[in-house]
Amino acid sequence: MTDFTMQTDADGVAVITWDVPGRSMNVMSLQGFAELDALVAGALADDAVKGIVITSGKESFAGGMDLNIIAGMRDAAGDDPARGLFEGVMGMHAVLRRIERAGMDPKTLKGGKPIAAALPGTALGIGLELPLATHRIFAADNPKARIGLPEINVGIFPGGGGTTRLARKLGVLAAAPFLLEGRLSAPDAAQKAGLIDAVVPPQDLLPAAKAWVLAARPDDIVKPWDRKDFRFPGGAPYHPAGYMTFVGASAMVAGRTMGAFPAPRALLSAVYEGALVPFDTAIRIEARWFTHVLMNPSSSAMIRSLFIDKEALEKGANRPALPDQKVARLGVIGAGMMGAGIANVAAQAGIAVVLLDTTAEAAQRGKGHAEADLAKAVARGRMSADARDATLARITATDDFAALGGVDLVIEAVFEDPGVKAEVTRKAMAHLGPDSVFASNTSTLPITGLAGAFDRPADFIGIHFFSPVEKMALVEIIRGKQTGERAVARALDFARQIRKTPIVVNDARFFYANRCIIPYLNEGMRLLAEGVAPALVENAARMMGMPLGPLQLLDEISLELGLRIARATRAAMGAAYPDGAVDAVLQAMADKGRMGRKAGAGFYAYSDKGERLGLWEGLAQAFPVAGAQPALLDVQHRLMFIQTLEAVRALEEGVLTDIREGDVGAILGWGYAPWSGGPFSWLDMLGTPYAAARAEELAESYGPRFAPPALLTGMAEHGQSFHGRAERSGAA
Ligand code: NAD
Repeated sequence: MTDFTMQTDADGVAVITWDVPGRSMNVMSLQGFAELDALVAGALADDAVKGIVITSGKESFAGGMDLNIIAGMRDAAGDDPARGLFEGVMGMHAVLRRIERAGMDPKTLKGGKPIAAALPGTALGIGLELPLATHRIFAADNPKARIGLPEINVGIFPGGGGTTRLARKLGVLAAAPFLLEGRLSAPDAAQKAGLIDAVVPPQDLLPAAKAWVLAARPDDIVKPWDRKDFRFPGGAPYHPAGYMTFVGASAMVAGRTMGAFPAPRALLSAVYEGALVPFDTAIRIEARWFTHVLMNPSSSAMIRSLFIDKEALEKGANRPALPDQKVARLGVIGAGMMGAGIANVAAQAGIAVVLLDTTAEAAQRGKGHAEADLAKAVARGRMSADARDATLARITATDDFAALGGVDLVIEAVFEDPGVKAEVTRKAMAHLGPDSVFASNTSTLPITGLAGAFDRPADFIGIHFFSPVEKMALVEIIRGKQTGERAVARALDFARQIRKTPIVVNDARFFYANRCIIPYLNEGMRLLAEGVAPALVENAARMMGMPLGPLQLLDEISLELGLRIARATRAAMGAAYPDGAVDAVLQAMADKGRMGRKAGAGFYAYSDKGERLGLWEGLAQAFPVAGAQPALLDVQHRLMFIQTLEAVRALEEGVLTDIREGDVGAILGWGYAPWSGGPFSWLDMLGTPYAAARAEELAESYGPRFAPPALLTGMAEHGQSFHGRAERSGAA
C-alpha cells in the first residue's frame, strides 16, 4: 500500500496524489516522506517532466503528522533519544528542502523544475509545511477548509520547517498569530494573510496549478530566502525596524504563558536565532529547538492528553457496544443561560430542538440567544444567511410539554432545585416514548436522587455542560446508580454529534470537574485569609499554567455560587464541616457587595464598562497581608496538589474509571495546567514517590486535606506511575 502515487500527463506535468489508504484524512508518516521523496526525485530526473503538482485524493489535503512517529523516533534511538529525534527531524527537512530546491544548482539557482501544491481542503501542520516548501500554493474555494499550523495547541510548535519558512515569508509580526496561537483560516483569509498564494473554484484547482507550473519562469521558483538580497519582511528581529515587534512578541508570550509552557518560548528562540543565519542553518536551529521541546516531558504529556486520548474519547473509547443512538430530535427544558446554549449547539449540529420554558416568551428569549449568536457568525462570514435560517428553523420555542412527543433525548436545565427538577421530569414523562432518554444538566445534585422522579431510571442520566456552552469543549456524562448502557451510549452519541469531548463518570457529590475545582477556589481563599499577598496567590497559579488564578476565577463564576455551595455542604456535613475559613472570606466579600464580575466588584476591581482593572485595593484591609510571605513554590504546590489529590480520590472512589478521562476532563473542563497533560500526567512527571512525600509534607504544614490518598501512597511504594499502570492493565 502506498500513500503517494504519481501520474505524468501528456502536458508533461507530474501529478503526485496523496491518498493514505483506509483513512478519511491524510496524515504524514516516515514511510510517506520516503515515498514522496522518491517520487519527486524520479520526476526531477525525468526529462519528459516539466514540473510537478502535489495534491490529495481526499476532500482535504492533510490533517498533519502522525504524532506517534515522534514517540517512535525517540524510542528507536535507545539511550540517545535526543539524537534520534534530531536526526529524524533533519531527515524530514531534507525531503522538504529537496522539494524547495527542485533540482536547481544551489549557486546559480538555475535548472530547477516548478512544483506547486494544490489543496482541495483542510491543510494542517505538516499538511501546510509541505506546501510551504513548494513554489506556489493553490487552494480550492472550500468554505469548510481550515488552513494553519495548530501544533502549539498540543504542546509543540511547527517543527517541519513551518516556523522558519512562515517567519521568512510573512515577517515575525504577521506570522505570530499563526505560529504562536495556532490560528486556522478559511482559504480566502489564508490567502489575504499570505499563507497561500491563490484560491480558485474547486473544479479549477488542478488546471490552475498545472497552468502555473507550465508557465513558471526560472525566477518564479527561487524562494526569497535563497536569494543573496533577502530581507526579512518587516525587518529582522535584530534590526531597528524589526526589534520592536520581537520585543512585543516576547512580552506577549511571557504575559500569556507566565513561563509555564515550554513550546512558545522555544518557538521564539528558533525564530530569533534563525533570523541571524542563512536558511539551511536556521532549519538546523529550528530542529534543535524542536528536539528540545520534544524531549520535555510536557510535550509528550500534552500530545497524549490533548491529541491521542482526547480523540480516543471522542471516538467512543468508553462507549457501550450498542447500535447507533444518534439524536434526531432533542427536547430542552429551561431556556435560560445553559438551556439556550444547548439548543443552539444542537441546532447547529442539524438536530431538531424543542426548547421549552414556563412561558412562550421565556422560551422565545432562549431562542433569541441562538439568533444573536448566529447573526454574529453571519456578520463574520463564518455562516451563510441560508444556513442561519435553516438552523433557527430547527428550534421550536414553546411552553407546551406535549411538544416533547417523539424526542430521542430530553435535557433539563431548569433552576438548580430538586423540587422544580422533579416536577418537570414528571411533566415531560407523560409525553415521552418508551425509547427516549432523560438527562439532567445539574451541576451539584446527585443523579441517582433526581432519577427517582422518572419511571424508567435506567434511561435517566446526567449530561453536565460547562458555561459558555458554545465555547467549552467538555461534557461530563454522569451514570446514576441505575443508569443503563443505552442511556450512556445515547449521551455519548449526542456529544459526538455536537462535537464535544465527553467523559463518563459515576455519580457522586459534584461529579468530577466541580469536585476538583472547588478545592482550588477554596485554597485561594484560605491563602488570602492566612495573610498571603493576593498577587502572590494569583501569580503563583498563573505561573503554574492555570489560565486564571483562583480569585479571578471566583469573580468570573460569581461568589453567589460559592455561598450556595458552602451552605449546602455545611448542611450536609454538620459538625465535620471543614471550610470555616473559606466561608469567612466569602461572607466578608458578600457583606461588601463584592460578588464578582457580574456585580462589577469582587476580588478584582472593574471599570464601568466591566473591564477588569486589577486586584481590589481594599483587599489588603479586608485580609491583612502578613509580614512574612511563603515561598512561591509552596503556594504553587498548595494550589496544584489540592486539585490533583481530589482527582486521585475521584479515581480511588470509582467516580473516575479511566485516567485518560481524568486528564482530558481536567484540562478541558476547568483549565487544569495544560502543559502538564492533566493531574495524572503531572503526578507521573513528579514521580509518585516524590508526589506522595510532598503531599505528606503539605498535610503536616497545612492540614489533613493534603494527606495523600492510599492509592497514591500504594503506588509510590511500588514506584508505579498512573499511565504506566494503566497501559499494563490494558486500559491505556
Ligand atoms: P437559568 O436561571 O439561566 O435558567 C433556568 C431556566 O429554567 C429559566 O429560563 C427558567 O424560566 C426555566 N425554568 C424554571 N422552572 C421551569 C419549569 N418548571 N419549567 C420550564 N422551565 C423552567 O439557569 P442556568 O444557569 O441556565 O442553569 C440551569 C441548570 O444548569 C441548573 O441546574 C444549573 O445548576 C446547571 N448548570 C449551570 C451552569 C452555569 O454555569 N450556569 C453550568 C453547568 C450546569
